[in-house]
Amino acid sequence: MDLKRPIAALAAEVRAGKLTASDLVAASLARIAATDSFHTVLELNPQAAHDAEIVDARVAAGEDLPLAGIPFIAKDNFLTFDTHTTAASNILKPFRAPYEGPAILRLKAAGAILVAKANLDAFAHGSSTENSDFGPTKNPVDPTKVPGGSSGGSAAAVALGQACFAVGTDTGGSIRLPASYCGVVGLKPTYGLIPRTGVVAMGSSTDVIGPLTNSVADSALVLDVLAGRDASDATSIERDTEAYVATSGDLTGTRIGLIKEYLGAGLDTKIKDQIEAMVSQLEARGAKVEEVSLPATELALAAYYILVPAEVSSNLARYDGVRFGHSSAGATDLEETYRLSREEGFGAEAKRRIIIGTYVLSSGYYDAYYKRAQKVRTKLVGEFSAAFDKYDLLLGPTAPTVAFDLGSKSQDPLAMYLNDVMTVAVNLVGVPAISIPLGTVDNLPVGLQLIAPQRAERNLLAAASAVETIIGDWSAR
Ligand code: GLN
Repeated sequence: MDLKRPIAALAAEVRAGKLTASDLVAASLARIAATDSFHTVLELNPQAAHDAEIVDARVAAGEDLPLAGIPFIAKDNFLTFDTHTTAASNILKPFRAPYEGPAILRLKAAGAILVAKANLDAFAHGSSTENSDFGPTKNPVDPTKVPGGSSGGSAAAVALGQACFAVGTDTGGSIRLPASYCGVVGLKPTYGLIPRTGVVAMGSSTDVIGPLTNSVADSALVLDVLAGRDASDATSIERDTEAYVATSGDLTGTRIGLIKEYLGAGLDTKIKDQIEAMVSQLEARGAKVEEVSLPATELALAAYYILVPAEVSSNLARYDGVRFGHSSAGATDLEETYRLSREEGFGAEAKRRIIIGTYVLSSGYYDAYYKRAQKVRTKLVGEFSAAFDKYDLLLGPTAPTVAFDLGSKSQDPLAMYLNDVMTVAVNLVGVPAISIPLGTVDNLPVGLQLIAPQRAERNLLAAASAVETIIGDWSAR
């Protein structure tokens, strides 16, 4: 059974009794087993078959479920009852969550079935999934390459057809980058549109949840289930009253700004050619495309790698060997419990971020780093908002290159951080963005990124859908 078929069609067949949730879950588990060598999954949900029977009973009882019987995978930084929640870090290896957040609960209520937890860079720190304490995931198109990160297991799982969709998190690009490297659709919604309660916190001012899917229509359908305020997350916002759908829009009159800074040095010229070819196609369909300069985007990466480590250092303070996960057996007093548990449990990247974050927040350095980075963030917000006075959408590549060789950057944190140069500004500004498969360069997937003003997901999805139609990737489905 092909789990890459449109979710709406599969769910309709389940509702009509032509297919069962149990069939779909069995197909998903079989596919995961058959493609095990890519190491997308950290743990299977032992309750998946049982959950499928319950959904089949709900369908039989006449419940109208938008995601009836649809198997999905959650990045392992989502708290889930029936499995461990490790965030791919040794410090959380023994951890079992005491609750599930609104995202997981909403998916289950809609009839979706959690089949597995996906690999990630530990605590979502990274761009290649090589920072996982449990070994890297391999790129689904070429297993010698990285899948991108930090939601690399999730993106690769979707590309491999292991489940119909995955949910990931995007603090600085972690949904869009792996979507680009694996050839799937990755949506980063407006900050707050999906409540983030029940996700292991990374950078609380930019963390968002979003879907990884095989099509824009699937992305819209999953967003429609996930979106909306919940009292448990004070930063969450109201959803649109209308459904999020991906109607392949007419682009007549759509004003698109092509981000100049994302097309300069560092961008693979073959990716640039593909972006330019797509721009001509969009113009042919009535869009008005112009180059726009957003000079502060050149400072966004530096600001991000100050602000997010600052928040990381604070969020990781809770792993003290007392309340969560790993507690050192060698400790003889409280202070040693803190020190040894953290020393033994955290990997190199988490430690690096704790040190950087603590440093930039410390007295004497706060003004030089944290405060200046906040000023850059304010400047970025201003530039994006000015751009959105003139344009409905912004466009650029998702990443400067295609997927790179496993191991080629894992010893060089700065080279790794540079992969995020086109994704982090969106997070600092809080606007929605989507990565759509554009084609291939050197036989590896390339992503196109569209960015919209806050809460303009419906426009974003319509334009993404138009791009997808142009590419024709899904005409054969
Ligand atoms: N690659 C970025 C980082 O390492 C983004 C991570 C993310 O979005 N979770 O911080």
